[in-house]
Amino acid sequence: MRPGIFTAAPERNRLPREEPPLCYTGRRLAVVFSDGSPSATLQFDSPAIPHMLPRIYEQTPADLISWCAAQQLPAYRAGQIQQQIYSTRTNSFAEMTNLPATLRELLAQHFSLLPSEIVAHQIAKDRTEKLLLQLHDGSLVECVLMRDDDRRTICISTQVGCGMGCVFCASGLLGLKRNLTTGEILEQVLRLDRLLPPGEKLTNVVVMGMGEPLANLKNLLPALDRLTAADGLALGARRITVSTVGLPDKIRELARTGQQFNLAVSLHAPEAELRTKLVPVNKNIGIEAVLEAADDYFQITGRRVSYEYVLLGSINDLPEHARQLGHLLKSRIAHVNLIPMNGVQELPFAEPSAPRTHEFVAILESFGVPVTVRKRKGADIDAACGQLRMKREQQNLVTL
Ligand code: SF4
Repeated sequence: MRPGIFTAAPERNRLPREEPPLCYTGRRLAVVFSDGSPSATLQFDSPAIPHMLPRIYEQTPADLISWCAAQQLPAYRAGQIQQQIYSTRTNSFAEMTNLPATLRELLAQHFSLLPSEIVAHQIAKDRTEKLLLQLHDGSLVECVLMRDDDRRTICISTQVGCGMGCVFCASGLLGLKRNLTTGEILEQVLRLDRLLPPGEKLTNVVVMGMGEPLANLKNLLPALDRLTAADGLALGARRITVSTVGLPDKIRELARTGQQFNLAVSLHAPEAELRTKLVPVNKNIGIEAVLEAADDYFQITGRRVSYEYVLLGSINDLPEHARQLGHLLKSRIAHVNLIPMNGVQELPFAEPSAPRTHEFVAILESFGVPVTVRKRKGADIDAACGQLRMKREQQNLVTL
């Protein structure tokens, strides 16, 4: 059944009592019948369903203190609750045994903890793990845990789909559905954190999954605040990388937060015509405006900007492209991450050859531009951004 749509023959249109449909919001339920009979919105009385309750970590620390006051609980309980969320990796309020039983019950009545459903969990040979989460409205979201020596890096999504339309990206193929809420962004972090064994900690976060993070800055910033807060995950801002195709105003807004986040600008081409072909949003922005905003980011934060460049065989990996990129970046404090194309079945792009990649690196280095070729993680799973979600969406369409 396609999430969000409850299909039923008219003679079997009784609503399930134990397991409410995913499109249930409060006390209204939209029903679409598969035989084409008119859809209806039904009203019925039902207590609040746990997975529709607000995620507890959507509350700011001040909100939690207010909530405790309203429940006639001492303010220090708010701190204890935060500690349970971020430090104990419990999967339910009932497991938070450091809290009194009455408080655990109260929490379960008012909030949810991990309400999304894990609909796929892939583990690659290199121990990269990918989760596909299904949200309350049926939306599917990907997030990834990568292991590299003592680094435990997660890659999280900020939108369902993406409206930027980069032609080599599976996330962009299905367009933008909606922004993720702060809680939905944070739930990915908590879910991935709970995949780690005791004694291991998340060390780095890259906001580079599905979606354009800066197009959802409003919901992303409070999430980053929780990741860096001492009573949250207590990660240093320098361990967090925010990626963007290059939205100049939003880049400057991120810089003005005063936090030392790393900025990764997805450039993918060294000149306007090719970039517009690969990253259509470039048409209305232009490379110069992106680079100027990135320069401002460096001026304000002092953080070196990374430029991401997906190498697409015979499209943007030619020596002349490397030279153009070298000219663009040689006078900037910048670093280039080359990402050899991850094969996506639905996309007509080839991986670059190894000699071509080496030549590209050598040319950039001859301009004095530091460059890294990103190691390919999770090659034996659907590791490309949006790939797993797209497969699942296609299965759902076929099922219908
Ligand atoms: S590469 Fe990033 S910005 Fe471009 S379509 Fe994919 S998710 Fe969106």
